Amino acid sequence: MLSQLPERRMHWIRWILTVGWLLIIASLFYDPWTAKLTTPDHPWSPLRLSESCIQVQGNCLSEQPYPLGTTLFWGAIVPASIFILLVFGHELWRRICPLSFLSQIPRSLGWQRQFRRENKKTGMVRYELAKVRSDSWLGRNYPYVQFSWLFIGLCGRILFFNADRLVLAGWLLSTVAAAIAVGYWYGGKSWCQYFCPMAPVQSIYSEPGGLLGSKAHTSEQLITQSMCRTFLPDGQEQSACVACQNPCIDIDAERNYWNSLSKPETGFIRYGYVGLVIGYFGYYYLYAGNWNYYFSGAWLRQTDQLTSLFDPGIYLFGQAINVPKIIAVPLILGICTAIAYGGGRWLEKRAKSYYRRHPKELSLETIRHRIFTLCTFGIFNFFFIFGGRPLIQLFPWAVQYLYDLGLVTLSTLWLYKTWRRSPDLYSRENLANRFRKQLEKLQLNVSQFLEGRTLNDLNTHEVYILAKVLPGFTREKRHQAYKGVVREALEEGYINYSSSLEVLQQMRQELGITDDEHRIVLEEVGIEDPSLLNPDRQRSLENQIRLSGYRKSLERLLLLQSKQVAQGSLDPGSLQDSATIRSLRRQYSITSQDEEWILSGLAGNASSVKRAEFLLAQLSQLIDCYRVLNQPVLYDHKAVLTLLRENISHKKELIVRSILETLGLLQSDPAALGLAQRLQQASPAILGEVLDQGHWSDRLPAAILQCLTQPGEMPVFCSLEFSAQATLGHLETLLLDQNPMIQAAALYVIAQLDPERSQAIARDQRHPFNSPLVKATLEQLLALPSNASAHPSLTDFPMLERVVYLFNSDFFHRMQSETLIALADRAEVRTYSKGDLITEAGDTCRELLLLIEGHANVHYQTGAEVRIEQLHPGQTLDELEVLAHSKSENTIVADSERTRILAISVDAFDDFLDHDPDFARRVLELESRQLQRFVRSMQSI
Ligand code: SF4
Repeated sequence: MLSQLPERRMHWIRWILTVGWLLIIASLFYDPWTAKLTTPDHPWSPLRLSESCIQVQGNCLSEQPYPLGTTLFWGAIVPASIFILLVFGHELWRRICPLSFLSQIPRSLGWQRQFRRENKKTGMVRYELAKVRSDSWLGRNYPYVQFSWLFIGLCGRILFFNADRLVLAGWLLSTVAAAIAVGYWYGGKSWCQYFCPMAPVQSIYSEPGGLLGSKAHTSEQLITQSMCRTFLPDGQEQSACVACQNPCIDIDAERNYWNSLSKPETGFIRYGYVGLVIGYFGYYYLYAGNWNYYFSGAWLRQTDQLTSLFDPGIYLFGQAINVPKIIAVPLILGICTAIAYGGGRWLEKRAKSYYRRHPKELSLETIRHRIFTLCTFGIFNFFFIFGGRPLIQLFPWAVQYLYDLGLVTLSTLWLYKTWRRSPDLYSRENLANRFRKQLEKLQLNVSQFLEGRTLNDLNTHEVYILAKVLPGFTREKRHQAYKGVVREALEEGYINYSSSLEVLQQMRQELGITDDEHRIVLEEVGIEDPSLLNPDRQRSLENQIRLSGYRKSLERLLLLQSKQVAQGSLDPGSLQDSATIRSLRRQYSITSQDEEWILSGLAGNASSVKRAEFLLAQLSQLIDCYRVLNQPVLYDHKAVLTLLRENISHKKELIVRSILETLGLLQSDPAALGLAQRLQQASPAILGEVLDQGHWSDRLPAAILQCLTQPGEMPVFCSLEFSAQATLGHLETLLLDQNPMIQAAALYVIAQLDPERSQAIARDQRHPFNSPLVKATLEQLLALPSNASAHPSLTDFPMLERVVYLFNSDFFHRMQSETLIALADRAEVRTYSKGDLITEAGDTCRELLLLIEGHANVHYQTGAEVRIEQLHPGQTLDELEVLAHSKSENTIVADSERTRILAISVDAFDDFLDHDPDFARRVLELESRQLQRFVRSMQSI
């Protein structure tokens, strides 16, 4: 809620607070006024010194009137910040923190460290903002740096600057100088993210969220929580994020929390902080020998603090222990931190071992979260037994009770709210919100189902229920909405190719989307924007926000310019070198790649046209690849080629569909007709099939439809003549495919044409091959003699061979690549000679058998007669018996000199049926088709 306070207003609030803070620092140097309020004979001041004796190590402390700067700072400002963090969340604190504000001075003055980057080809020079790299030492260890600084600060308070005004002023001013220096040295809020000693305290009290904090992941606002922002002259706000941290607490504190939950440094900070706070307050007792020293606030007015550095640091049972205070303080605080950390780890282990025995109850993350929640609840209340108490004690009892009651009530409400959170709940809310946005984009008529509410008012469950009952939410629309969610989640780095299946599982269940459909969606998204599935390209929400902030600024500039010159059209290219644009690029740390991407999306339909152009280029590449695979020289490798060709055909179909969708968006755009003509020329056959399948006449203008359905003037000519170099070049493009079956098959075909080249590919490892199938293929390629003139056969690649035959079989055809690879991994190949018995009637079926080479005869015993049926490669021998775990009813005999069988054990098959619902569904589908065929054949006899 406070995150939505206008930035302009917050800017003034920050100014007022910063000036107030600087005045307090100034008062530490010169303050002739406030000490009068503390004189023992002051007529009304509650701060006047009392006559009572405050004992420190058995002696009464002698006290003098004192200025109030330190009392105000330690007694009111620091406790207030802790209160704000827990109740209002970091989103308020970060927006008002004076130190954070001061660290942004270099940014507002445009003085920030930048790196010069020169494009070697064009000679263009650009400057990029310096940022902390996530793989640098600081990027990896900043939580420890911040905690160490906090530790030093707390020790420093007790030893040097709780009451010594000049030392405190020096400490605060050096911190301000450090914050400004970091603001110059690194972009964004690097001071807050990587250096500020208060940052661990902020995470502890305000993550996963403050009591009254907002939820960024369900917010409709583009600028969430305390995200860096600026305001424009018209009052509108705009992101100023430069992606200095990923994930960023200022953008979504809860995401940051779940992301760091399992990290060892998080445990260290959370448990260590508990010990540090206990040690800090406990030390006052250990030092003075009583609690009165702390609660009276005498430590705030001991202006001769530095003189006691080498006095005994511990006083117990009426005895001073002769450990100098300068050693005792870090020792006690260090021991308490270590004990709390050890205790936290022990508690975690116990809780985890308990829950491992009851795994269904809670996940390990939730256990850790709940322990952290209890720690924060406990340490917040412990802190406020002490924090602010020297001042609160000056008020009447009723006020003190109210203060205590208020703190306990608020912290209990926070505990109640936080206890129920979990990574799973966050993920569900996050995805439901993404889905809600996609529903909005579809512009369905939902008002009749919502009784006055809007889509935004629906909770996670309601939004999915609505999707189930909406009449207009057809299968196609559901696919479109799901695809939108997948694309957005990929763009933000919330999912990647491999994690998407698991992360989106619950959403698929809600929407009735199969794993297969998910894979199709991934393929479609990958074809439209291959970089989305590129594992080497790191994506993040922060980066998206940075780019969209730059894009908005650029759009605004273009608009202003177009108004000034009173031109009707926008030309982003004309602005490329203006000083304002250069400064914007620096401000948002824009690289040339970023720039290209942003400019492509600036002008209306330009991005759709570009996308269609890109898809057409891909289509033409695939068509060439397909032709390459049809060359006579490769005919002997039919099984491998079938795998590759089917994959390419499937992709061609997806691309054609995608181009048609883009043409639907372009409607009567002048570029659309040309694109349609090129599509018709490139792939008339697949185009015809796709047009027959969908209701394209409703979505495409008549002129476009006519152009697509009319044969082109030029006859389509498909040449199969490619030079050896071009053939290999096309085959190498297949190595970039995400599917390991395609990569391995392409390697095999390259080895047939040029074994040395395939070995060179295996050696140089330019392509990131991670799949065991591809790795095994590469190993086998390297194991071939380097000067081999004979080409390797498929049997030289046992794993690939099994995958290829499974793919080509009737039973497993078109199953997902991961399933086929996993099945191949557990299968084995056996060779039989003519007349060998493969299975005998009455044997218990222990394996599913697939004929991969030669022939076999099935001997059916029907009454007194024996009917013989011949099986051919690709057919399975006894799948019904395997499914039923029954005995074999027929005898199967090898019928060729070399009969090869691929065997999958029943156990392996059952494992897949149990753990892979998609596999189980497909097996049932296949089996029912087989049964139907069988019944029909029996009827015809
Ligand atoms: S990641 Fe962006 S929003 Fe977060 S602190 Fe850095 S610049 Fe600000």
